[in-house]
Amino acid sequence: MRCPSCRESFAQAALAQCPRCKLTLRRLDTRFGTVPRHSRFVTDRSASLPLPDMRELRSLLSLFHRKFPQSIFSVFVMPRIEGGTIAEYLFWLANRARFSSIEATAGENFDILLGIDLRTRTAALQIGYGLENYLSERDLERALAQSSAAFAANDIPRGVRACVEFMMERMREAAVAVEERTTPAPSATSSPSEW
Ligand SMILES: [Zn+2]
Repeated sequence: MRCPSCRESFAQAALAQCPRCKLTLRRLDTRFGTVPRHSRFVTDRSASLPLPDMRELRSLLSLFHRKFPQSIFSVFVMPRIEGGTIAEYLFWLANRARFSSIEATAGENFDILLGIDLRTRTAALQIGYGLENYLSERDLERALAQSSAAFAANDIPRGVRACVEFMMERMREAAVAVEERTTPAPSATSSPSEW
């Protein structure tokens, strides 16, 4: 995983303290306070997304969840972030809020969070530790790059859609790759065959 503040990467399932910048979750608690109320799939704290777009995004994210039942993709649209960056905020949310219907922590967590800070015009993507085996930092950068043109044009729904669709495709590819790794190669000798 990577530290959301200094981007230092380190191999541990949960952040105790960042070895470089000394960030801790407790420090983020003091900066961000209490976990905000959130809705299923899309939380628009800016109250700026049109209702039809919200509906469309919810149904896309619900499709995502049907395709990948272990994973919930949640989107946060924030008017601003007080006390930190969107990357820090998402990291904190991922550790403090509960998104899955099942209790999923550490290696079992396959959830995805996309956050948009409208004031600084920045976005961040955070994945559960369980997904780090399947998706790389580069995948996340590419997913965000899909959205950047739409975000720059202030079309938040289109940007979110592009990011979700990219992630859906990457998850599908990752699932296929895992299946290929775990399926035993057909045996050359033991399978009985008819003449
Ligand atoms: Zn750090």
